Amino acid sequence: MAEDAGRRKAAARRGARPARGEGTPGTGRPERGPGTALTLERGWVYAPAPESREIVSIAPEYGLFVGGEFAPAASGKTFATINPATEEPLAKVAWAGPADVDRAVAAARTAQEKTWGRMPGSERAKYLYRIARILQERSREFAVLESIDNGKPIKETRDVDIPLAAAHFFYYAGWADKLEHAGFGPDPRPIGVAGQVIPWNFPLLMAAWKLAPALAAGNTCVLKPAETTPLSALLLAEVCQQAELPPGVVNVLTGAGETGAALVAHPGVGKVAFTGSTEVGIAIAQAVAGTGKKLTLELGGKAANVVFDDAPVDQAIEGIVNGIFFNQGHVCCAGSRLLVQESVADHVVERLRHRLTTLRLGDPLDKNTDIGAINSRQQLDKITELSAAGEAEGAHRWSPPCELPKKGYWFAPTVFTGVSQSHRIAREEIFGPVLSVLTFRTPDEAVTKANNTPYGLSAGVWTEKGSRILWMAQKMRAGVVWANTYNRFDPASPFGGYRESGFGREGGRHGLAAYLDV
Ligand code: NDP
Repeated sequence: MAEDAGRRKAAARRGARPARGEGTPGTGRPERGPGTALTLERGWVYAPAPESREIVSIAPEYGLFVGGEFAPAASGKTFATINPATEEPLAKVAWAGPADVDRAVAAARTAQEKTWGRMPGSERAKYLYRIARILQERSREFAVLESIDNGKPIKETRDVDIPLAAAHFFYYAGWADKLEHAGFGPDPRPIGVAGQVIPWNFPLLMAAWKLAPALAAGNTCVLKPAETTPLSALLLAEVCQQAELPPGVVNVLTGAGETGAALVAHPGVGKVAFTGSTEVGIAIAQAVAGTGKKLTLELGGKAANVVFDDAPVDQAIEGIVNGIFFNQGHVCCAGSRLLVQESVADHVVERLRHRLTTLRLGDPLDKNTDIGAINSRQQLDKITELSAAGEAEGAHRWSPPCELPKKGYWFAPTVFTGVSQSHRIAREEIFGPVLSVLTFRTPDEAVTKANNTPYGLSAGVWTEKGSRILWMAQKMRAGVVWANTYNRFDPASPFGGYRESGFGREGGRHGLAAYLDV
């Protein structure tokens, strides 16, 4: 942001004007069409800086990845995946049914028993390193593809999703030959076949979170990506081929909720890992109960981001913006409830609004874009409905001046003030770029309000007092508490929740436990 401000000042000194085609003459507003970045900043127009799509080649149709090869579904059924920013159909993708689940689990079982499970950890590590290196080498291709299929800005896929996905493979490659030193006893064993169901908000990253620890521990995997974002998982399957991973070690089944349900219920699966909604997580917990399968659930959240009156305001504003507007708010640990100390509330909200007028919403492939498209029509409807409920219940709704592109799924960054704890927007996970602002007077009140949620995934605290950070971190019921930062991830750090946010941890040494028979 400081860099942007610097550039603006330099341009102003040079008397720079928008180049031809950059803006609408006489209005100071940008021209908009599909694929044109829209600046919300008063009076300033950014020239479009689109990343080329050339690097990505999307096939018209994709099969299932089973036993190291791509093949159509047994039923021949397919579904379309679209670009949510333009509604353009991208490809047809195979729809896996029960027969395909059987085939994939059988392939995974054979690979586990005959190859992968017998291989020394030091050999498995080489494959994981190879996958990590290929992800790095093909990172631009992955970043563009993920933006197209998901709608998230290229600067996020390029700087966050893809580097973190590679980092996960690197990190767990390091564990593969050290399992007996990981604190799980002298001879920790793999479970067998892992059935893994992932959501659409971080498609490649969630695949990496699931696959890397499972493979390091000697398991084989059947992965079910989300219906709206299958393409990066299929490209990852190609990377597995490129890395010469033995056939059947990783299998990718595209399909719908039924595919996921058939996978988790399959008797050949020994470990189930799910990230997604609390509702589906509960259904999976019921399906798995009594089967002896190991289960980890990473579900929703309604995190409190708590700002005290001594917080560094500029940093806190960036943390609030990153907390809720990163990835259009499609983040399970999003700081969707801002709790701000009453004495500074007006000031913080004013500064926040000013900051939001500088966000750029539009073409996800434009490198200047801060806010991309909402992932699906269904998700847009949910955000719209919950925001309308916020207004109807009496909260005050505000968005920066913002004209949305005509095609695709878009939602302006939105801030609700005057929110009470009983409002739906303070209780339910919106999973969109919508922030609910509440106030508190004392640290005790902040803790009580922060914990007044059925979830417990994450929280943030902003204050200059180290002792207060430690006190808050102990009191807040959340799996992750960020202090003077937000949405920071590291493969070495465990992540997971309490209560309706699920159980089990992913990442770090803890993440291995879920994939070992310990
Ligand atoms: P879901 O929980 O339905 O989807 C997550 C994954 O589970 C997808 O791969 C989905 O497949 C699959 N799935 C769906 N039903 C079943 C089932 N019965 N058994 C096994 N797998 C299943 O999330 P949605 O995409 O429907 O989003 C709904 C809400 O969930 C969002 O509005 C948001 O609030 C929340 N959510 C939370 C996430 C988080 O990380 N905490 C992530 C995603 C959503 P398919 O895509 O084919 O339906």
